[in-house]
Amino acid sequence: MNHYNSYSACLKERFGIPVLKLPINAGFSCPNRDGTKSLRGCAFCDNRAFSPVAGTTTPPLEQLQTAIHRAAGRRQAFIAYLQPFSNTYGNVERLRTVYEPLIRVSGVVGLAVGTRPDCLSDPVYEYLGDLAGRTFLSVELGLQSSHDTTLSLINRGHTFDAFAAPVRRLASMNIDTVAHVILGLPGESPEMMFETAARCAALPVTGIKIHQLMIIKGTPMEGMFTEGKVEAVSIEKYAPVLCGFIERLRPDQHIHRIMSDITTAGATGLLIAPEWSAHKQSSLKFLHDYMDANNVVQGSKYLK
Ligand code: SF4
Repeated sequence: MNHYNSYSACLKERFGIPVLKLPINAGFSCPNRDGTKSLRGCAFCDNRAFSPVAGTTTPPLEQLQTAIHRAAGRRQAFIAYLQPFSNTYGNVERLRTVYEPLIRVSGVVGLAVGTRPDCLSDPVYEYLGDLAGRTFLSVELGLQSSHDTTLSLINRGHTFDAFAAPVRRLASMNIDTVAHVILGLPGESPEMMFETAARCAALPVTGIKIHQLMIIKGTPMEGMFTEGKVEAVSIEKYAPVLCGFIERLRPDQHIHRIMSDITTAGATGLLIAPEWSAHKQSSLKFLHDYMDANNVVQGSKYLK
């Protein structure tokens, strides 16, 4: 039984063959780190823990070519995924210089761009519209929570409304949008997280990436954890919240992931908790077994 609408199945249906997303670091910065909004960053963030390419300085095109070479034989179609930091944080000329060579590589069927909701200017929208007319384009926006109190607590530097506006604008341009959310943020009850699911379902968001909160060494969240202001969620507690979240999404929204993992070489030492984040396969099995046992169906609690 398919408990949810997986993104990999959606890509296979769209392109007729399995598609592999390849993370690329294009060297952009982030206004929540460079002092434009803040110097502290989001309380949970250390890109090294979330992206296998966060530390690389290799040019983006070379990263993509190497990754395709490594995947040769396993896949024939690829999406270049600009993953760490804020990949629309620059002027259009810079974006063009990075994006255009990537979409021209043989086997690349599209581009996924991770960014912040407040890093999209009018000229950038215009360029993205042009790009979407030439290749498959997906814009991934960090949201984490729909509650402004939580967003303020974790120093996101934007509100829920500031997320909703670009989602609507990108959707009006027929560009796919993906919301990144974190379950288990400080002060959030399951009901608050379910509310975030319902709010995402009410927006023209195409896909959702769901993560458990990971406590990463050296982040402000580590301090909150040490002070007892936030708990590390056990997988037994995460499973029902994840499932309740999925049940409240729209049936057509694509689920890109149902947990974070920290299996990237070199990053596992950054993990403080929860420990199950370092065991991707067994944790995914636990979550899927829970869905089987509880007949979880995406959208079964969606309210129009
Ligand atoms: S999570 Fe994204 S927006 Fe927040 S500090 Fe890290 S790179 Fe910047």
